[in-house]
Amino acid sequence: MTTHREPLDSVVDTVGETPLVRIHASPDEVPVYAKLESFNPGASVKDRIGKYMLEQMLASGDLPEGGTVVEPTAGNTGIGFAVAANQLGIRAVFVVPERFSVEKQTLMRALGADVVNTPTEDGMGGAIDRAHQLADELDDAVVPQQFSNPLNPEAHYETTAPEVYDALDDEVGALVAGCGTAGTLMGLARYGRERHPDTFVTAVEPVGSLYARLHGRDVEEGAYKTEGIGTHDPATNELFDPDVVNEIVQIGDHETHAEMQRLAAEEGHLVASSSAANALAALDVAERAAAGELDLPYDSVVTVFPDSSERYLSKGVYGDFESWEG
Ligand code: PMP
Repeated sequence: MTTHREPLDSVVDTVGETPLVRIHASPDEVPVYAKLESFNPGASVKDRIGKYMLEQMLASGDLPEGGTVVEPTAGNTGIGFAVAANQLGIRAVFVVPERFSVEKQTLMRALGADVVNTPTEDGMGGAIDRAHQLADELDDAVVPQQFSNPLNPEAHYETTAPEVYDALDDEVGALVAGCGTAGTLMGLARYGRERHPDTFVTAVEPVGSLYARLHGRDVEEGAYKTEGIGTHDPATNELFDPDVVNEIVQIGDHETHAEMQRLAAEEGHLVASSSAANALAALDVAERAAAGELDLPYDSVVTVFPDSSERYLSKGVYGDFESWEG
């Protein structure tokens, strides 16, 4: 539960301590729980790295007081960094490929950040290159680089994971999360494997993404609508460590779209596509465990709902599949 009962000094103090909620579609013997990250002030899981990375970089001197962060981001990271930067006296500039949602870019600007767009066809790699170029041109500017900075998974190791394990008295059988940077999953998985070495870990990506292919599976690369997870560019998956992952599961856009609508209609969750993909993968792990196909150290599966569908309403998330722009 969110337990901020005392008055707080800053909105940044409300990051974390998000609720963990049971998914009703899960088998009784092996419940699935989802960590509801839209309860953060910037309404996504990325508020955690915004706060954690900026505070750590200021403490270590890597980011000077009053300096600038320039970050390539699909959007939620920008909002997470912008919320923290806004309160910590840091200027924020975000480099966003055009295809990502307009809502997110509007929110970054409202928080005082500057947004620079790069062509969709240059991918996230193009945004990363442009961010470094901009940082070179500015005084006191740093690229936190969520795609390769160990502070990203560390934020989840230090905050998300202990919250999950506290809520379940350390009895977590499996961890399931979609990988964009893979920071969320890596932080959870490292913490989980220290608690129990047999903790089962599932990475989730959309069909068409490259994680499975980069790790030896013969799957096709292709476009997908699910937003925030998956990779097309090896430059964006440096944090992914196959040693803490048991399997990489691919979920198709059709199933994800239907699950996004089911989660709202049946379970009251206004969550976006990456949450729906995570839910499907987590329910599948729970069903395999309940059927005796998987041996989990504890009968529970934990996943993450990274953000809310409200951020994507203009893309038709609750319409029919064909009109969903992704
Ligand atoms: N879902 C959404 C909506 C996201 O924005 C992100 C971050 N790109 C993720 C999931 C994946 O998180 P991570 O980068 O920690 O793998």
